[in-house]
Amino acid sequence: MNAIATPQGLPGQPHIAYAGDQLMVEGVRLSDLAREHGTPLFVYSKAAMLSALAAYQRGFAGRKAQICYAMKANSTLAVLQVFADAGCGFDTVSGGELARVLAAGADPAKVIFSGVGKTRAEMKQALQVGIGCFNVESEAELDVLSEVAVSLDKQAPVSLRVNPNVDAKTHPYISTGLKGNKFGIAHEDALRAYRHAASLPGLKVVGIDCHIGSQITEATPYLDAMDRVLDLVTEIEAAGIAIHHIDFGGGLGINYNGDTPPEADALWAQLLAKLDARGYGQRQIMIEPGRSLVGNAGVCLTEVLYLKPGEQKNFCIVDAAMNDLPRPAMYQAFHQIVPVTPRTDTGAGAGEVYDIVGPVCESGDWIGRDRQLQVAAGDTLAVLSAGAYCMSMSSNYNTRGRAAEILVDGTKAHLIRQRESAFDTFALEQLV
Ligand SMILES: *Cc1c(COP(=O)(O)O)cnc(C)c1O
Repeated sequence: MNAIATPQGLPGQPHIAYAGDQLMVEGVRLSDLAREHGTPLFVYSKAAMLSALAAYQRGFAGRKAQICYAMKANSTLAVLQVFADAGCGFDTVSGGELARVLAAGADPAKVIFSGVGKTRAEMKQALQVGIGCFNVESEAELDVLSEVAVSLDKQAPVSLRVNPNVDAKTHPYISTGLKGNKFGIAHEDALRAYRHAASLPGLKVVGIDCHIGSQITEATPYLDAMDRVLDLVTEIEAAGIAIHHIDFGGGLGINYNGDTPPEADALWAQLLAKLDARGYGQRQIMIEPGRSLVGNAGVCLTEVLYLKPGEQKNFCIVDAAMNDLPRPAMYQAFHQIVPVTPRTDTGAGAGEVYDIVGPVCESGDWIGRDRQLQVAAGDTLAVLSAGAYCMSMSSNYNTRGRAAEILVDGTKAHLIRQRESAFDTFALEQLV
């Protein structure tokens, strides 16, 4: 059970806080935004995104480093624009993401392309726009990529994603660096794969990468993965193949519910000390953070539709659902849920304990369980830490139009995505 967050107690986010009885994002009242734009409504703080980025930039001060925002965490154009304007590159995982990030003004030379299942069409698209690097995930993919590049009279810059076989100690669905995951090339096969890559006419080896998981809240898995990757760099370079850059992936966690991940700059102080100690401190470094740049920069506003008391459970039925906020249904993830305008008038104490659920016809459609809230129909709640893997994973299930999105910058609120109408959801369909 989780108490209502205190004004200072919202997870890790000074830009989203109460001022008196009003929850604010920067200088904008969320109650005003809900009234003006309706709910469900995602609201993001630009300052929060930039301050999360600044922690990485501080960590890398004086180093050759490129931060590639892993845009699958939140790929809304205006969010990409914030990071592009701040000098970020991007980690993409589909041709769709590549098209999207270019539309937001990204420099293709700073874009990398990850993922286990790139199609020939996606490879061609990425080669034609001149992306910075393909992060290749299997030996079979090397052959196909080389073929596609040769057919275009180009050489594809490649990095091989190696699987360091370390336990990121996170949820099994978001752990990616263990044997048995579909991702990357096994450590013991890596040298052979690099030799193969170096022999192919359409490829130019430029780097090595790993990505061990997501919502990682300790430094140890990163330190272990770094050791494993550097062992490989030594081996591969001894075989005469130069590794220009080393990419350590993303995965740093955020505070959802009292989680205490290291700050990005503190984590990188530790990692860079190891890199220096092993003699690789001057190497070009790349990283691919997603969640840690946007997760705590966003909230989702939702209106309480009905309170439904029950014998075993009280339900608080809200107008946001698993199609808007898929993380609880997918990974039993936790989001804090707080009132936008806490009730102080009733003297009814801390309220009742509710399961907060959406209108979708699935028992898996819940947003929070066993939450104590003093709440009434018509109130607006804020689902916190909703900046990452919410809108980008949203769907039209139950023919629900996707929510609108607002980017707050100081006292200005920009509508960055209109609410989808029912007509929008079936606009591409036709009757026979
Ligand atoms: C998803 C992903 C990331 C970003 O992960 P976060 O946990 O959001 O930081 C980085 N690299 C790759 C290859 C990914 O698939």
